[in-house]
Amino acid sequence: CGIVGVLGNHEAAPILVEALKLLEYRGYDSAGIATVNKGQLNRRRAVGKLVNLSDLLVHEPLAGKAGIGHTRWATHGAANLSNTHPHRAGSVAVVHNGIIENYRDLRAELASNGIGHETDTDTETVALLTKHFMDNGASAEDAVKETLSRLDGAYALCFLFDGEEDLLIAARKGSPLAVGHGDGEMFVGSDAIALSPVTNRITYLEEGDCAVITRTSLKITDINGELANREIKTVQVGD
Ligand code: GLU
Repeated sequence: CGIVGVLGNHEAAPILVEALKLLEYRGYDSAGIATVNKGQLNRRRAVGKLVNLSDLLVHEPLAGKAGIGHTRWATHGAANLSNTHPHRAGSVAVVHNGIIENYRDLRAELASNGIGHETDTDTETVALLTKHFMDNGASAEDAVKETLSRLDGAYALCFLFDGEEDLLIAARKGSPLAVGHGDGEMFVGSDAIALSPVTNRITYLEEGDCAVITRTSLKITDINGELANREIKTVQVGD
């Protein structure tokens, strides 16, 4: 189970797959990526080993320089294609490691607003909630923050949005997450090892942090919603 994200100046898909390979050691049962290309969000997902995803990408390439990727260790719902991340609701795509404990309550609340679910995962409710808040006029950032305030459980999350080629939103509570600084590029990863091919300059998110990331900026708010200063560490993988 691992998370990666890229706001790059090169094609994202190969970078995402390479980073996911470096997270294979954690174990997983399925894998997927999403990118935004010419404003359009698209996904490719495959059950089983990462080579299945790489094979799929040969036959059905995914262009775009902004993207997110995931290896899944299923906790809610079988390891099938419909449950494989990234999950999508409208313009919102999300990858998640961890467990949303109150997903049944959130599902019921969404259902009372006429919003149904299509997968068996806890994660899909995160995408549906964020879409719901955006449909009610919230910005992507505000919608994610509103969603986070509703979640019980443990998570590392990374969001990507249709129509937004220069925006990732990442959040952590109970699962580690790191932001990597490139040269006019930014990355997200479950750990520094995943990002080692692209950068060794790492900002570790702390418990409750939410990071709004563009290619040229990183804004982190802490568990109280206050702006937080987090240092950039130069990390030697293997340390
Ligand atoms: N609970 C989520 C699921 O079952 C995420 C699992 C993970 O950490 O990979 O889809």
